[in-house]
Amino acid sequence: MKIAFIGLGRMGWHMAAHLQRAGHTLSVYDTSPTLPADWAKAFGGHAAASIAEAVIRAELVMTSLPADAALSAVWELAQPTLAPGAIWVDHSTTSAEIARRLAKIAAAEGRHFIDAPVSGGTVGAEKGTLAIMAGADPVAWKVVEPVMAAYAQRCSLIGEPGAGQLTKMSNQICVAGIGQALAEGLAFAEHNGLDPRKVLDVMLKGSSTSWMMENRAETMIEGKFDFGFSTTLMRKDLGLVMDEARRADVSLPVTGLVAQLLSDVSAMGLENADWCSLMQRQRRVQSG
Ligand code: NAD
Repeated sequence: MKIAFIGLGRMGWHMAAHLQRAGHTLSVYDTSPTLPADWAKAFGGHAAASIAEAVIRAELVMTSLPADAALSAVWELAQPTLAPGAIWVDHSTTSAEIARRLAKIAAAEGRHFIDAPVSGGTVGAEKGTLAIMAGADPVAWKVVEPVMAAYAQRCSLIGEPGAGQLTKMSNQICVAGIGQALAEGLAFAEHNGLDPRKVLDVMLKGSSTSWMMENRAETMIEGKFDFGFSTTLMRKDLGLVMDEARRADVSLPVTGLVAQLLSDVSAMGLENADWCSLMQRQRRVQSG
C-alpha cells in the first residue's frame, strides 16, 4: 500500500522500517530536520518535506506522535491533500476524546480514523512484536490489520473509536504500579545488603514476574536509563489516565501517587530518561 508515516521517533522509526521491509511504498515526515532524510537513507522510501506532501497519495496515513496537540496539528495540515477514502491509523497515546472526535470527522468525509495505541516498548517496535489495541470501524480494521502485522504480534480490535486509548490507559495503570513496585522491591533488597541480581533471578521464577521485571529490572539495577519510554511521556500518559478517571468518577490511588513520584523524577533532571528512573528516586529517598 502507499503509506504516509508521520513521527519517526523512538517508536515510529522502527515501525516505518518494518513497513518498508514488508514491501509497502512509504513517504515519511517528522518535524525533526534530519530524521526523514536519515530514515530514507537507511531504509529507502521518500523523505517528504511537509505533511501535505507526505499524505498526498497515501491510502494509509500512520502517525506515532507525542500527544494530542501534535496529532491535532498534523491532522489539520494533512486535510487539504488527504485522499478521499484514506484510512488514518494513529499509534500515538492520546486522549480517548480526540480519537472519538477525529473518527467522527473522518466518517462524515468518507474516510476512517483508527485509534491504535501500542504496547511493548522500543524493543517491541524494533523486533516487530508490539501489541496493538484499537478502536475502529470493523471494515477499515480488516484493511489495516494485515499491514500492522509487520510490527505487531497481536492486533486487537477492542471496540468503537476511543476504545483503543481507553485500553492503553488500563495498561498504563497496571504498568505504573508495577514500575514503582519494582523500584521499591529492588531498592529494598539493595538497602538490606542483598545482591539485587540474585533477588531478581529468583523473583523472575516466582509470582511477581512480569514483562516489566523481565525487561526493566536489570537496567534499573544498572542505573541505565538512556533509552526506552521517557519520564515526560509516562507523565503525559498518567495525566490522560487521571483526567479520564476524574471524568468517569473513578478512584485510582496508586496511579495518582506514581504520577506525583514521576514529577519528582523530572525535577531530578531525568525527564528524558526512561521512566523507570523511578529507581533513582527510590534510592535517593532510601539513602536519606
Ligand atoms: P518520540 O518523542 O521519540 O517520537 C515522537 C516523534 O514525533 C518525534 O520524532 C518528533 O519530532 C515527532 N513530532 C512531534 N510533533 C510532530 C509534528 N507536529 N509533526 C511531525 N512530527 C512530529 O516518542 P516515542 O517514544 O516514539 O512515542 C511516540 C508515541 O508512542 C507516544 O504517544 C508514546 O506515548 C507512545 N508509546 C511510546 C512507547 C515507548 O516505549 N517509547 C511505548 C508505547 C507507546
